[in-house]
Amino acid sequence: MQHPCESDPDMWFSEKAEDVTQAKEACGFCPLRAECAELGDNEEFGVWGGMTPAEIRSAKRFRVIMLEEMNNTHIRRMRAEGASVSAIARELGLPRKTLSDRLRRLTGLAA
Ligand code: SF4
Repeated sequence: MQHPCESDPDMWFSEKAEDVTQAKEACGFCPLRAECAELGDNEEFGVWGGMTPAEIRSAKRFRVIMLEEMNNTHIRRMRAEGASVSAIARELGLPRKTLSDRLRRLTGLAA
């Protein structure tokens, strides 16, 4: 199967905004989108999986922040329900020391 970028590779590395927009739209139909975005994380130019390398890095940072916030919410709830630090660390697959440090940073949760 031919991927959209194979028909006009120059468009995926163009500096023209309209080409970049078209390349991003064409990537939307490609089954390799996720794998391609992983590759683009290490690049400086081009469109990879529908995003520029800067957009890929920004999306990754956002995902990390969101995952950490979800974990913090889960930790707060478990502590409020009386779970021990060891039990929470086990459930999240974290070393106890890492969890204790994080609990110290979270408001009102002394480890
Ligand atoms: S996702 Fe990757 S392989 Fe697919 S069209 Fe876009 S640049 Fe090409």
